[in-house]
Amino acid sequence: MSKQVTFPKGGVHPPDFKLFTSGVPIRNAPIPALAVIPMQQHMGKPAQCVVSKDDLVREGMLIGRAQGVFSANIHSPIPGVVKEIREIYLPAGIRSEAVSIELQGEFDRSGKDEPRLEWQGISGGDLLKSLADKGIVGLGGATFPTVLKYTVREGAQVEYFVVNGVECEPFLTADHRLMLEKSIEILEGIRIVQKIMKPRQIIIGIEENKPDAITVMKENIVRSGLDFKVVALEVKYPQGDEKQLLKAVIGREVPSGGLPLDIGAVVSNVGTMQAIYEAVVLDKPLIERVVTVSGSIIRNPANLKVRLGTPLSELIEECGGFTEPPSKLIAGGPMMGFAVLSADTPVTKGLSGVIALSRRQVRSPLQTPCIGCGRCVKACPIGLQPTVIYKWIEHGEYEEALNEGLMDCKECGCCGYSCPARIPLIQGMKLGKVMSRKNKKA
Ligand code: SF4
Ligand code: SF4
Repeated sequence: MSKQVTFPKGGVHPPDFKLFTSGVPIRNAPIPALAVIPMQQHMGKPAQCVVSKDDLVREGMLIGRAQGVFSANIHSPIPGVVKEIREIYLPAGIRSEAVSIELQGEFDRSGKDEPRLEWQGISGGDLLKSLADKGIVGLGGATFPTVLKYTVREGAQVEYFVVNGVECEPFLTADHRLMLEKSIEILEGIRIVQKIMKPRQIIIGIEENKPDAITVMKENIVRSGLDFKVVALEVKYPQGDEKQLLKAVIGREVPSGGLPLDIGAVVSNVGTMQAIYEAVVLDKPLIERVVTVSGSIIRNPANLKVRLGTPLSELIEECGGFTEPPSKLIAGGPMMGFAVLSADTPVTKGLSGVIALSRRQVRSPLQTPCIGCGRCVKACPIGLQPTVIYKWIEHGEYEEALNEGLMDCKECGCCGYSCPARIPLIQGMKLGKVMSRKNKKA
């Protein structure tokens, strides 16, 4: 029997609930009558809004300009007129300026034949510039500006470019469907990145619960004469985290506080590869993405290709609505996503899923004292002692929590998921980080 490939420490196996949508092909969501587009949809500085109230905008037009490399351009997902510019709240509690565009006029791109750009003769630097122009960020959730990730300093060599097709969060299947339906485009996106960074080796990591995607990707690699390697990984959460993925596929550990590039690697998600294909080959800015709409109380769960700025309520309606009132609506996956307070929240670049949970599925908040079972320690993929860190945070001893490695916590939720006492360990970690940063500023 072959040895299973996975990260060595910790991790959990939550039920994956992927069958709701893994067999449902991606379809287009309706175009929103009003799109609300936040200027903060990426890690780093918000984009600077470059339109005003009553301006007419075209589909794909720049409406927010990146403020430096640690930022990203934002484009209008629909043609229309700017109705309002105001501050809104996003799921992570982030406040952002947002442009509301009312649908009007003709679509410049949708429904038209897209001419193909033969990019092979374009330099790596110009390809990188094109990704910046089109507002490409990592679509796996971290929304790191791609131009920054792929800018390799003079003399440095990227040994491994690892493409993340893991999608380990329960319910989510957007990447799975993309690999089945758009594998050729994903492979072309990877070739574009190959030209930019010239990595020595390209590896695509996919968990074994997607055997059809593994087969399709492998077959198309062979058919296209590429030398990319597909690695089938044991199913384990949080394998989609780039540090865990790197441990699993190349056996190297990113140092505490470091980046994958410190060990010669760069990681990007499969959805980002497809967006790169569209940006370069079809000259298309990032104005839509695939979102999984799922949960046991969604009448017809689906994967939808959605214009950014579409309210979540319209996606839920497209999927037949709820079968019972939801107890919790989550933006992203149930392990690392954020509870959504209003279904008016718009789809942003980093949103991979909308999950509606029933009362039965939301864990009882009844908390009991720690029984010292050590399950949280065993589950932590970083090797931290969550119970110890939590106690320091509870007592306001943030310096001690930092000494125990608080800042290395990935907020993956494995510890809280494993805790029989229902201790809100992850909320504790988040609070501890906020308080430590505040204290440091003070
Ligand atoms: S949330 Fe943090 S402390 Fe808890 S298991 Fe994940 S990395 Fe470890
Ligand atoms: S899993 Fe919960 S009960 Fe067990 S040691 Fe950790 S915090 Fe305590």
